[in-house]
Amino acid sequence: MSEAGQTETALGQSPCFTPGTRLHQELSIYVHLPFCIQKCVYCAFDSVVGSETDLLAWHQAILRDLELQAYHLAQRYQYVVSLFFGGGTPSLLSPRLIGEIIDLVQSLWTCSTSMEITMEANPESVTEAKLHGWRRAGVNRLSLGVQAMSDHRLFLLGRPHDSAMVQRAFQAARTEGFDNINLDLIYGSPQHTPEQWRWELDQAMALEPEHFSCYSLSIEPGTPLAEQLSLGQCALPPEDILETIHFLTVESLVIQGWERYEVSNYARPDYCCRHNLGIWRSGDYVGVGPAAHGKTTLDDWTEVRTVNHWPVQRYVHALERGEVPFQWVEVSSRREAAVDCLLMGLRLASGIPRQLYLDRAGVDLLETKGREVQMLIQEGLLHVDTASIRLSARGMDLLNSCLEWLI
Ligand code: SF4
Repeated sequence: MSEAGQTETALGQSPCFTPGTRLHQELSIYVHLPFCIQKCVYCAFDSVVGSETDLLAWHQAILRDLELQAYHLAQRYQYVVSLFFGGGTPSLLSPRLIGEIIDLVQSLWTCSTSMEITMEANPESVTEAKLHGWRRAGVNRLSLGVQAMSDHRLFLLGRPHDSAMVQRAFQAARTEGFDNINLDLIYGSPQHTPEQWRWELDQAMALEPEHFSCYSLSIEPGTPLAEQLSLGQCALPPEDILETIHFLTVESLVIQGWERYEVSNYARPDYCCRHNLGIWRSGDYVGVGPAAHGKTTLDDWTEVRTVNHWPVQRYVHALERGEVPFQWVEVSSRREAAVDCLLMGLRLASGIPRQLYLDRAGVDLLETKGREVQMLIQEGLLHVDTASIRLSARGMDLLNSCLEWLI
């Protein structure tokens, strides 16, 4: 990795930033809005409580960042297939600011006519007027940061919304014509029980969203929740309860028609998240915004990875001075790219196309890990055919153990 001071040298030398062949046809763009109205107790994401002035400075910086990255990269890609506003709380953005970003993306890059434009939205900052404006601006997929369906659990997680706001935001989004909605849910918070979760899942499924993301709560060092746990002020559910909750999630959603297409993601047919699919399938992405990550695959299948400056002011000031906003630039070897292909691709129920792995690694997985592959097949954890390598449903539940054998 290079320090920020070496960034421009590294960029100048990198074939990634000189006009190249159109090796990679599809690109995703991620826009990171790092502001929230308060910090949730479990949050270790790159987010801060920000003012209106911060938000406007961020917006100007985003427009510059998009121009700069398009100047270097746009010719490498045939079209942009997805634009994702993540955070933080992107729903703090007015339709006007969102619209300016979408318009700029469409003027700088060639975009697919069916480009997926997702916005993460937190229920407390969703209004009918904003929904109307976001939709008019081009947002066609909404990802609601619901996290829990009970007021008690929302309180424990330190979320600023309640369950009534979830219902209201969801119904308002439907009324405004959003027909592709994801609900983000978290299970395994302190004292969580399978009975509570079953009730919450029933409530969430009754809304009939097109997509669910269901993650187990992860405890990150330095967060208020980690502190509460270390002081014995609360306790996480034991492993067997977490396992029960996980299996309950898979069973309930699958029986009701949401396909488990990724370890933690479920969708109605044709409603998988196109943006995340691109990343799980080793696709390239541009990251704009503070702390956003980007990845460009070079013609020799090595990868250039970038991470933007953090904190926000450093990112904004770099762009105000006309500098590249990268904090890190790293060129991954082909071997690292192949490992990443496994880490990402085996999360998907459809697995990894054999040819994709061969391109990345330069050698078939069965040649380098034949014995391990056979063992996982015999254990019923892995399927291999001429087209793909994929984990079984049980293999997906044991993802980390399977990866240890294959990497
Ligand atoms: S809304 Fe998300 S990003 Fe913001 S503080 Fe809560 S968990 Fe963190």
